Parts: sequence; structure tokens; C-alpha cells
Amino acid sequence: MSARILDGKVVAAAVKEEVAAAVAGLDYQPGLATVLVGDDPASHSYVRGKRRDAEEVGIRSIHHEPPATIIQDELLAVVESLNQDEDVDGILVQLPLPGDLDGEATVEHIDPAKDVDGLHPFSLGRLVLGRPGLRPCTPSGIMRILDHYGIETVGRRAVIVGRSFLVGRPLAMILSERGADATVSVAHSRTSDLASLTREADILVAAAGSPDLIRPDHVKPGATVIDVGVNRTDSGLVGDVDFDAVKDVAGAITPVPGGVGPMTRAMLLVNTIRAAQARRGVA
Ligand code: NAD
Repeated sequence: MSARILDGKVVAAAVKEEVAAAVAGLDYQPGLATVLVGDDPASHSYVRGKRRDAEEVGIRSIHHEPPATIIQDELLAVVESLNQDEDVDGILVQLPLPGDLDGEATVEHIDPAKDVDGLHPFSLGRLVLGRPGLRPCTPSGIMRILDHYGIETVGRRAVIVGRSFLVGRPLAMILSERGADATVSVAHSRTSDLASLTREADILVAAAGSPDLIRPDHVKPGATVIDVGVNRTDSGLVGDVDFDAVKDVAGAITPVPGGVGPMTRAMLLVNTIRAAQARRGVA
């Protein structure tokens, strides 16, 4: 039997409607600032999409595109001006940064109250502590997909392939915190016998950036498979999962494109409105 398709576009549309309704109920217009350096086509396309999403739900998009010749101190000054700007509720610095620019130091310079990507050490620290805060967008998007489709996490085994600070590690925290209550393993490039580990998973998340890494023999029959990977290949955009083969084994699966990607964008809007409400004292 073929797996149920977990359609990120459908869930993202529902999230965007919620955000649009919340924005319409405010007596101010929240603002999302994007900072894009360099000419990486993928980064340009991501930021275009994020700005379009923001405008669609009534969030004001403020965009800065400094020249690739900008030096670190000048970039920090751009971030600082956005930190100080009362009309800016969220700041997103698109990573990776080109050349010698330091992405970590730049993100660290963002006012944590405006850290809508949820990647500032303050936000990640609060996540580890289990305290409320702005969560990274891709992990929270994955949680929202699971929730939307009624996929239970409590007491389930989850295996995440990939240990980046962007996806794998924060998702492991979120899935294992009280309320989600999954038992989580994190695999990485040095994991031996990946397939025997992933076959234990009720929920298998692939976030490695390696096309077709996950094949049917990696998947327990009936498992939920979440494909985070975005890989540009000669045959187009593919995930980390061999979708056509794995869909006959899995119980539910996200496609690429149209799975996790739209959710990452939608959760940025959720974080922007949360940041706006928190900064402006709205419950
Ligand atoms: P990363 O390169 O920072 O981390 C990749 C991780 O995968 C590492 O921890 C590495 O150890 C592990 N890994 C690599 N090859 C492996 C293998 N053969 N077996 C086991 N583990 C392996 O990448 P990232 O930033 O976490 O992104 C991962 C993928 O997800 C990329 O394709 C990226 O484009 C995509 N991504 C998608 C979204 C989205 O919204 N859809 C968001 C973020 C990242």
C-alpha cells in the first residue's frame, strides 16, 4: 500500500491563514527584516519567497541587500540598526554568508527578541532548558506537520539523520521535550549501520543533504518519514529519501518539494508575529 502523503503546502496554507487573521487583529503592522549578502541563487530565491509570504499575510517586509564587499563590522552595523528600529519585529540574516563574513557572529548580534529564525544562542539555550522562546523554523514546521496529520509522538521512537544546529539537534530537543515525549536517536555521518538504527524508527527524519540516502531497507513498515533534504541534482530538486521506493513501505511521507520547505517558511511568519506580540506586550 502506498503511504499517505503529508502535504506541506496544505499545512502551510492553514498556518498562513492563522497568521493573516492574527495580523488583521493587531493595531500595528508587524515588520520582518531580511538581510541578504552575495549572489547565491538559492539564497536569493529563499529570501524572495520569505518576503512574498510576509506580504501575503500582511507583515511588512523590510529588505537589506548590502554589497558582497561588505566587511563584518559594517554587516554588524546593519543588524544593529535593525535591532534599534522600532518598526522591525523580526530579523533574518540569510545564511550562509559569502567570503570571510562570520555567520555565527552575525546571528549572535541579532537582538534575541527579534530572532525569528530561532538560531541565536539565547533561543537555542532556552530550547535546551525547555523554556518558552522562538524555535528554529524547520523543526517547528516538522512538528506542525505531525500535529496536523494527527501523527502521535508520545512514546514513539524517532530517529533523526543529521545533527546540524539548524535541523537535527533542535528537532531532537523538541521531539524529546515533555509533551512531545518521543524517544530520540540522532544519527550522523559517522553512525555505523545506519539502516539498522533507522529501521527502529516510528518517525524517521532525514536531514543529511544526501540524495536517496534513505531507501526502503532503512524504513520500518508503516513508519512516518519526514524528508528535510533539499538537493539540486541533474534530475531536479530531490530530498534525502528515495521517495518512489520508500512510499511503498512507509505509512506516511513528506514529498520534496512540497513537504518541509513550505513549513519552514510558514513558521518564520509564526515566529514574526510571536516576536511582535511579545515585544509590543500583546498576549
Ligand atoms: P548540514 O550539512 O549542516 O548537516 C548535515 C548532517 O547530516 C550532518 O550532521 C552530517 O553528519 C549528516 N550526514 C551527512 N551525510 C550523512 C550520511 N551519509 N549518513 C548519516 N548522516 C549524514 O546540513 P543541514 O543544514 O542540517 O541541512 C540538511 C539538509 O536539509 C540539506 O539538504 C538542506 O538543504 C536541507 N534543509 C532543508 C530545509 C527545508 O526547509 N526544507 C531547511 C534546512 C535545511
